[in-house]
Amino acid sequence: MPPISGMFFFIYPLLSHPRLDQQWRRGLSPDNNNSPSLAIMSEYNPCLDCGACCGYFRVSFFWGECQSSGGVVPDDLVVQITPSRVAMIGTDAKPCRCISLDGEIGKQVGCSIYANRSTPCREFEASWVDGVHNPSCDAARAAYGLPPLEANEPHWPDEGAEVA
Ligand code: SF4
Ligand code: SF4
Repeated sequence: MPPISGMFFFIYPLLSHPRLDQQWRRGLSPDNNNSPSLAIMSEYNPCLDCGACCGYFRVSFFWGECQSSGGVVPDDLVVQITPSRVAMIGTDAKPCRCISLDGEIGKQVGCSIYANRSTPCREFEASWVDGVHNPSCDAARAAYGLPPLEANEPHWPDEGAEVA
């Protein structure tokens, strides 16, 4: 199974694709440039020049993840979509693009709320992290004309290094 458990249930892609029920992004936040893990990411993480999943899936989650409810996601960056769920602004409409995504998809991107991103954002994995293929990553990249990540490419740090 691809490592998409959180996104699978919480993120709904807006484009026409068979996996319309699944999720990104990992990027450098201006607030986190001193993070050791992000220093590693900047060296290895292919997400930093991608960002496709943040412009492809609806990123929705339980409202309890918002700051007003004791969570970490800023309330002013979400829109209510059901009585109990919210979505990142920009991901529940077409063209899809999360309000917190900085940069240009397919070139250089970052998440402006990296440390405060929601659970589906945290749980979505790029293909071949820990050797596991994620077809949803492929789908998002394909929507932007990007090739799928390939196994055995030297994208990811050695075991034990933090990548997201
Ligand atoms: S909050 Fe950040 S990681 Fe999540 S979809 Fe938006 S830009 Fe991507
Ligand atoms: S490589 Fe995959 S997980 Fe990373 S930003 Fe691109 S689509 Fe998202």
